[in-house]
Amino acid sequence: MEDLKSYIREVPDFPKPGINFFDITTLLKDPLALRMTVDRFTWLFSNGHRPHKVVGIESRGFMFAPSLAYNLNAGFVPVRKPGKLPAKTVSQSYELEYGTDRLEMHADAVAPGEKVLIVDDVVATGGTALATAQMVEAAGGTVVGFGFIIELTFLPGRQKLSGYDVESLIRY
Ligand code: AMP
Repeated sequence: MEDLKSYIREVPDFPKPGINFFDITTLLKDPLALRMTVDRFTWLFSNGHRPHKVVGIESRGFMFAPSLAYNLNAGFVPVRKPGKLPAKTVSQSYELEYGTDRLEMHADAVAPGEKVLIVDDVVATGGTALATAQMVEAAGGTVVGFGFIIELTFLPGRQKLSGYDVESLIRY
C-alpha cells in the first residue's frame, strides 16, 4: 500500500506555520488510487468485523466513508463539528494543543448493539478518533475498528487507540 504514498500531496505550513499538511485530494482524484483505497479498506474490514455502520469524521472522512459503507453493506453515519446536525445529538469534547473542541453525532445514528467502523483521512494524536469512539460507545455501539488512509507514526495516535483494531494504509 506504500505505493499509494506517491498520490499524497504534502503541503508545508498549512493551515499554519509548522504544520505539514497531508492532502488526500490528489489521491481521491485519481481513479485507480481511489479504487485501491476503498477496496483495501473493504478487504480489511470484511473479515470478522462486518460493521453495521461506517462513521466518517468531518470533513475528509466524508470523502470515502460512504463508498466503503456501500461496499460493506453498511450504513454511513456523519460525525460533525458542533451545530451542524439538525436533530438530537450526543457530543464529546476532546483536547487540542491549545484548548478543547467538540464533535457531535445524531443520537439515533447508532443503535445499541451495532458494530461500528470509524474512518478518517489522517490519525495524528488520535484525539479526534478516540472522541468519536466514546460517542459511539455512549450510544451503545461497539467499535470494531478504525481505518485511516494516513498514520503519523511519530505521534501517539496508535497508543491512544490501544485495545482497538487500527488499520492504516500509508505511514509517515
Ligand atoms: P488528531 O485528533 O490529532 O489525531 O488529528 C486528526 C484530525 O486532524 C483528522 O481529522 C485529520 O484530518 C486532521 N489532521 C491532523 N494532522 C493532520 C495533517 N498533518 N495533515 C492533514 N490532516 C491532519
